[in-house]
Amino acid sequence: MAPFSKKFIDEQKKRLENDLRDLLEKIDNLKKEDPFSDPDHASDNAAVDTDVREQVGHDTVEAQIKDLSIRAEDIKAALIRINKGKYGVCQKCGKDIPQARLKIIPESAYCIDCEKKLRA
Ligand SMILES: [Zn+2]
Repeated sequence: MAPFSKKFIDEQKKRLENDLRDLLEKIDNLKKEDPFSDPDHASDNAAVDTDVREQVGHDTVEAQIKDLSIRAEDIKAALIRINKGKYGVCQKCGKDIPQARLKIIPESAYCIDCEKKLRA
């Protein structure tokens, strides 16, 4: 069990819950921005350049939604670890993740060493 105070865990939990709410809101807004979600889209006889523009807009929105969704999943996983009392334990080597790191990235699942190896 990581040596974190209950206060620290509670604060992290609040941060994670707020971050998750923000992310889900952003994802919702992006979905509304997606030109493909425009109900007029299917029926319009737009010129080719409009279609291209909509396609680019759609791809950009999709990429953003994907990034945000990945982060939302990381945060959900961190919240599950908090509930299981396993928050702040590296998911790879089992060592404690430094508190300073968790303050910067509350959803960290790995210690710095393992994160480096995963990205290498
Ligand atoms: Zn590790």
